[in-house]
Amino acid sequence: MKTHVFDAVIIGAGGAGLMAALYASRGANVAVISKLYPTRSHTGAAQGGIGAALGNLEEDRWEWHAYDTVKGSDYLADQDAVDVLCQEAIEVVVELEHMGLPFDRLPNGRISQRRFGGHTNNETGKPVTRACHAADRTGHMILQTLYQQCIKNRVNFYDEFHVVDLIRVDDTIRGVVAYEIATGELHVFHSKAVAFATGGWGRCWEVTSNAHSLTGDGAAICLRNGVPMEDMEFFQFHPTGIFKLGILITEGVRGEGGVLINGQGERFMERYAPHIKDLASRDVVSRAIFMEVQAGRGINGQKYVHLDVRPETVNKYNELAGDPRRIDRAYIEAKLPDIADFTRTYLGIDPVEEPMPVQPTAHYAMGGIPTDVHGRVVLGSDNRVLDGLYAAGECACVSVHGANRLGTNSLVDLVVFGRRVGRHIVEYCEQAELLPLPTGTGEAVQAELSRIRDGSGNTKVADLRHRMQKTMTDNVGVFRTEETITQAIDDLKELRREYYSELHIDDKGHRYNTDLLEAWELGCLLELAEVTAIAALARKESRGGHARDDYPERDDVNWLKHSLCSREEDGSYSLDYKPVFIGRYEPKKRVY
Ligand SMILES: Cc1cc2nc3c(=O)[nH]c(=O)nc-3n(C[C@H](O)[C@H](O)[C@H](O)COP(=O)(O)OP(=O)(O)OC[C@H]3O[C@@H](n4cnc5c(N)ncnc54)[C@H](O)[C@@H]3O)c2cc1C
Repeated sequence: MKTHVFDAVIIGAGGAGLMAALYASRGANVAVISKLYPTRSHTGAAQGGIGAALGNLEEDRWEWHAYDTVKGSDYLADQDAVDVLCQEAIEVVVELEHMGLPFDRLPNGRISQRRFGGHTNNETGKPVTRACHAADRTGHMILQTLYQQCIKNRVNFYDEFHVVDLIRVDDTIRGVVAYEIATGELHVFHSKAVAFATGGWGRCWEVTSNAHSLTGDGAAICLRNGVPMEDMEFFQFHPTGIFKLGILITEGVRGEGGVLINGQGERFMERYAPHIKDLASRDVVSRAIFMEVQAGRGINGQKYVHLDVRPETVNKYNELAGDPRRIDRAYIEAKLPDIADFTRTYLGIDPVEEPMPVQPTAHYAMGGIPTDVHGRVVLGSDNRVLDGLYAAGECACVSVHGANRLGTNSLVDLVVFGRRVGRHIVEYCEQAELLPLPTGTGEAVQAELSRIRDGSGNTKVADLRHRMQKTMTDNVGVFRTEETITQAIDDLKELRREYYSELHIDDKGHRYNTDLLEAWELGCLLELAEVTAIAALARKESRGGHARDDYPERDDVNWLKHSLCSREEDGSYSLDYKPVFIGRYEPKKRVY
């Protein structure tokens, strides 16, 4: 095995990994390891915007952003972390702008902002323009900008290296083991610090907005190395995925005035959220669509509703609301070019002429690797810091999103906490020593990869993955009950058994063996799916993205707490809990 030595390695080259690398590289020798070529990371798919209370169009305050975030989280977010997020959002957006990010601009040259779900003026309760955006390609621009900055600052990149294990000895971190995709060789990256920024795991579900690469590798590696997973029962279903395909239609469409319409031609969000209507938080809108469909009010009785951004519809509703904004074809082509392109390509629909068929799509992991506000990984109910291990971005749980993330807050999370991780790594590496590698480094994962390669069973990866996605969608989806979750856990146990005893892959080679890596990734997905179901079964209440039909109310007396799910030596899972940090905002019932 080849060995490389660095002060720190950062796993993942999305927004979180690149921001961490940029800052860490200013004072430490760091490498970024990424299974994808960096600019293919999912951050590049983010469309709608990045939230920051710049107040460029109307009054806004970071405290309003913080309140909206806490309310959106159904009061499960840690409010100290939320304050950091919303305060630092403002300076980080300006920093990105100074790095050269081409935000859309107002005629006066300031960054343009638009409305998004759950963003409000706290005094009037009305929507506020807070989402800074570069057309509907905001994530793409963030990723390109940060990548250019990293290249300029001579960050070391190991592209198409797939990290498969963490080297942890008791409570010390010694590096990671990675598989070089081109050759099939294992490499050891020996370091003082490791930061995971590996993104989410939407691929546990059948209909998802997530890229194929979002298989939760970093979270699963941490879980296998004794790090509990926090709040895994909270997975966000975005209300507007393209019917059947799951491809995301940004909330920015509703921010620009688009409305949801059911099979009876009714703007049904007026009933579910009379004040903020189509811009209620995502959990609320996803459930509303689900209930409309259940009640037979989908379009032509099918499992979808319409998202209508045709100028005549938007202008009609704006006029009814006394809102002076009017839009036309040119406006849609300028503000939502990618969305118009997607719907033309995938649906043959021009959104200026026809409404789009949409259904909820698995979108975002609120839970993940528990960290403090510096991005340091913390263990157990007393938040004990594990020195040298960091996590940021979607794989981490700080927790700023609690039970439901507000739109545009993930991109903020990446850059705010990515930056904090980078800064802390510099501080840590100045005083930490490089500890020796333990004997047998990489052997266990080598054996696991050989097991998969040599498997002589009859079960294919694609078949197991499909069955996992189906049971997760049917049983641990927008709504769940004790019965459905129990069914999912039984199914996942059986899938796990087959994964370990009956797996078969066709490609036995070493070069670009994506068959092997997909099988390894499926192992990660299966574990995270099971942890999600176990945490969901235990939580006997409904909060944010976790809606239990059998326990429809939020229960602050018993459940205002974060869950922690650990993997035991024998492969079973155990649950623990820790308190939520409450700051200025006492939990209240959410009204939209
Ligand atoms: C379609 C879509 C639209 C979105 N729109 C918005 C939006 O408008 N606003 C917003 O705030 N949020 C949005 N989100 C959410 C947001 O984009 C993501 O949560 C965020 O980009 C995740 O960034 P990340 O840096 O954590 O990881 P990612 O960008 O997902 O990158 C993960 C990185 O980890 C690497 N990696 C993973 N596993 C391994 C491994 N085993 N070894 C080596 N490398 C590995 C990958 O190569 C990749 O570089 C959207 C998400 C989607 C899917």
